[in-house]
Amino acid sequence: MSRRFVPSIRFRLAAWYTVALCLMLIVYATATFVTVRHEFLEQLDDDLYEDFETAEGLITRMPDGRFAWVSNEHHDPDIDEDRGTDVWAAGGEPIFRSRTSSALPPPVLSGASTHPRYDSIVANGTHWRTLTRTATLGGAAVVLRVARSEDRLRTQLREILTVLVFGLPLVAILAGMGGYVLARRALTPIDRLAAEARRITADRLHERLSVPNERDEIGRLAAVINETFARLEASFDHLRRFTADASHELRTPLSVIRGIGEVGLGETRSPAEYKEAIGSMLEEVDRLTTLVETLLRLSHGDAGTVRLSREPVDLGQLARDVVSSLSILAEERNQRIRIDDSAQSLATVDRLVIREAIANLLDNAIKYSPAGSPIDVRVRSDRNQAVIEFVDQGPGIGAPYRERIFDRFFRLDDARSRESGGTGLGLAIAKWAVDVHGGRITVDENPGGGSVFRITLPLTTPRQGDGTKQHAHTTQSSGGRL
Ligand code: ADP
Repeated sequence: MSRRFVPSIRFRLAAWYTVALCLMLIVYATATFVTVRHEFLEQLDDDLYEDFETAEGLITRMPDGRFAWVSNEHHDPDIDEDRGTDVWAAGGEPIFRSRTSSALPPPVLSGASTHPRYDSIVANGTHWRTLTRTATLGGAAVVLRVARSEDRLRTQLREILTVLVFGLPLVAILAGMGGYVLARRALTPIDRLAAEARRITADRLHERLSVPNERDEIGRLAAVINETFARLEASFDHLRRFTADASHELRTPLSVIRGIGEVGLGETRSPAEYKEAIGSMLEEVDRLTTLVETLLRLSHGDAGTVRLSREPVDLGQLARDVVSSLSILAEERNQRIRIDDSAQSLATVDRLVIREAIANLLDNAIKYSPAGSPIDVRVRSDRNQAVIEFVDQGPGIGAPYRERIFDRFFRLDDARSRESGGTGLGLAIAKWAVDVHGGRITVDENPGGGSVFRITLPLTTPRQGDGTKQHAHTTQSSGGRL
């Protein structure tokens, strides 16, 4: 397959510039030539008129009836090569002819009047411009014709035309070369940018393009590329951290399983001891399975391939469901969960996905607040937002961590969190679940100690006469990212 020739931008710029300049020059040269030619011809006709008036005054009738040129004060018609004067009787007989005008054909006398008539004629290869008019010389009515050669004028016009015609390609070539050099100079910074950008590989993402002048076009382009590199670097870092954290998380249960196995094999044990060892191993396997499943779900969320089944959901009802599912955990720790859902709050969401977010937040509140402390779940609506709050009496989240707490594998107290079976992914999942519904998840300090986790979702207003559960069931693909 033959590769199509794609000219470089600098070549195209130079070509366009040359073509545009040539077109302008052609128009300009044509207009100049036409104007100059018109001016020359007009000047020639004016000169002819002057010649006519001079001839009228200088040709006199001699006593013998002949006509002669009486003064050569202006010019001698017998010497001049490029001018001629002749006088004709109305009947067509020549009365007076200067030396040069004898070469001209006789004038057309019919129609000769006191109005000057201009003609262009060719005689012996010479172009002449003539003025013919009736005149009264020595009392006789005659036809007087003056002529001037156009040769000099034509030579001048030809020279001008030659300069214009041959000058044009020269100017075009010079313009093309100049345009190419200029385009190259203008585009050199782009080549430099490309060379610099090529050097920035995945392991040198911290490097940036140099921006000599951030206000010009190239500077703005470099700034945009630099921003892209910064985003890429952040994503790479995120990914690296995530991979490292995920490997670490996966390695811990594997080491535990290995340890239990090695101890079990170390010496002969009773069946009950073996059973216990296998039970511990299965617990770790469960932990691993949960971790892997959560990671998989997160990566689906990243890829935007999770399908959401949205329906109007009464968030108060949903929160009650979750509270009753987790109440056993709270009871174990002697905690009391109080729920306030007096204000009805409806949101069009995927019930299961939001349920999981609520469950994760409530689970954390139970896990991280002291035994015997109360936990409050409040559901309300605030203008066009549905809000669910989880208020606990736990250690709270320090201000510097309130953003990072939602990152994957981020834990404030590693040992405590692991001990309570946490994977460090609960809040990341909750954040994704809320984000994907166009909501927000935040954490604040509880004035009475502990933390307040808050989910905000777009509120759905119930239609008059509609029961909350009878809305159409809509399914849509989510493009949510974590
Ligand atoms: P984990 O599975 O470890 O609980 P999460 O993503 O749910 O992971 O939470 C991340 C970290 O945030 C926890 O390890 C814990 O340190 C902190 N955390 C979460 N919820 C609370 C809370 N209600 N009070 C105090 N700390 C919390």
